[in-house]
Amino acid sequence: MPRAHADVVIAGAGIVGAATAYFLTVRSGVKRVVLCDPLPPLSLTSDKSTECYRNLWPNQPMVTLMNRSIDIIEELARESGNAFGLNRRGYLYVTADPQRLAALQESAERATRFGIGPLRVHDGRSGDPAYVPAPAEGWEGAPIGTDLIADPGLLRHHFPGITERAVGALHVRRAGWLSAQQLGAYLLDRAREAGLEVVPRRVTSVEVAAGRVSGVGLDDGTRLACGAFVDAAGPMLAPVAGLLGEHLPVHAEVHHKVGFRDPLGVIPRDAGLLIWNDPQRVAWSDEERRHLEAEGRHDLLGEMPIACHGRPEGGPGSPWVLALWEYHRTVIDPVWPLPEDQLYGEVVLRGMAAMFPRMTEYLDRMPQRVVDGGYYTKTVENRPLAGPLHTPGAFVAGAVSGFGIMAACGIADLVCAHVTGARLPDHSAAFTLERYDDAGYQRELAMLTETGQL
Ligand SMILES: Cc1cc2nc3c(=O)[nH]c(=O)nc-3n(C[C@H](O)[C@H](O)[C@H](O)COP(=O)(O)OP(=O)(O)OC[C@H]3O[C@@H](n4cnc5c(N)ncnc54)[C@H](O)[C@@H]3O)c2cc1C
Repeated sequence: MPRAHADVVIAGAGIVGAATAYFLTVRSGVKRVVLCDPLPPLSLTSDKSTECYRNLWPNQPMVTLMNRSIDIIEELARESGNAFGLNRRGYLYVTADPQRLAALQESAERATRFGIGPLRVHDGRSGDPAYVPAPAEGWEGAPIGTDLIADPGLLRHHFPGITERAVGALHVRRAGWLSAQQLGAYLLDRAREAGLEVVPRRVTSVEVAAGRVSGVGLDDGTRLACGAFVDAAGPMLAPVAGLLGEHLPVHAEVHHKVGFRDPLGVIPRDAGLLIWNDPQRVAWSDEERRHLEAEGRHDLLGEMPIACHGRPEGGPGSPWVLALWEYHRTVIDPVWPLPEDQLYGEVVLRGMAAMFPRMTEYLDRMPQRVVDGGYYTKTVENRPLAGPLHTPGAFVAGAVSGFGIMAACGIADLVCAHVTGARLPDHSAAFTLERYDDAGYQRELAMLTETGQL
């Protein structure tokens, strides 16, 4: 006999499960929502992120989804007195290559058409619009859209320490970061006040009766009857869908990040997320090069990918910087502890030297650093899943890759509408599994770029 009945059971208390619980309880008034997770909420992937957000994306559905998600995040920040420290410092994509600067401008022009806000060009000519620096704290009143800084002097004035080689940068303005833990805690607190029950159990089975979801089994052997089930299991999204005999087209990629102390203040403390947008070769000495060859680390010796990036972390006086550089692209079935790369922290510090040459002052004596990470759960085209599974009453919320913190509220908004039968916004179809049944979409997928980003 069922020990209880829930209207909706959610598997997974990461940021996506937390946001889904909030939407169902607080915004839609669903009475009995149970959130199951054997781990403490937000402790698997959602506390490992760099906590950044941006509305610059290369296609219309992603821009619409992220604008909606950021709208919700801003609403929550406003109503909570900014309990999770939302800022709008932006993302700065820096390049030493005029052709790459032109490509950044094109991407900004395209994204303007998708609705990210206006592009302002600053190339040092008279009549340029004024470049408005980003405030270090808060977001209200800060510009949106993008600023193309094609005047190297202006760039170095506002971002001191950037390499003399930089020819310019694209500053994406509806972007910045927040505390993901605090946002998640706020969502869960509000949902609890509205009746959410959090159960520290793993979902081990999903039952179907008369062709639709009727309950879940938990790892203590108990059973919970329910009217609907949401799979928000992050890296376990596919195995949890597998409990219903369903297949999800997702894979998991290992991603690390490093936190390091920057006592010399090389990275400007008021800057946003700083991204070196060019490929580069790390400047190893001959001896280091021989050593790496002997170790078989050929991945570190040739041309390395774009997007070594980092940002200041912590309030005024904090010396910490968070930085990432994905030069592996390792796809595996998720295991914990995460596979290690002993050299990761040092390689990222060296990579950051392409953008901030004074980073080389740390090479003789590497600063204290901490490496952690998690999995990006991704679809082939790096577009999330938010909608029904094939089994009536079952839903999926996930595959949020490296953008789950910024997308969680937008995903929860869609999944909640699917679960409750509310009106679906136009962009919802782009995030359902049904998109893969569309022949035109399949043709687009066949033309995917190497990064897998549609
Ligand atoms: C290094 C790194 C940097 C990142 N930087 C950013 C960033 O700057 N901005 C951004 O937006 N995103 C970023 N991300 C991505 C973001 O962290 C993830 O997309 C997001 O945290 C995924 O959230 P989730 O809720 O889907 O998964 P998770 O947080 O992994 O939560 C899934 C939960 O499901 C639970 N679960 C699994 N199986 C079951 C089961 N059978 N029953 C019950 N519960 C189950 C797990 O225990 C887990 O708690 C980054 C990620 C990494 C790794």
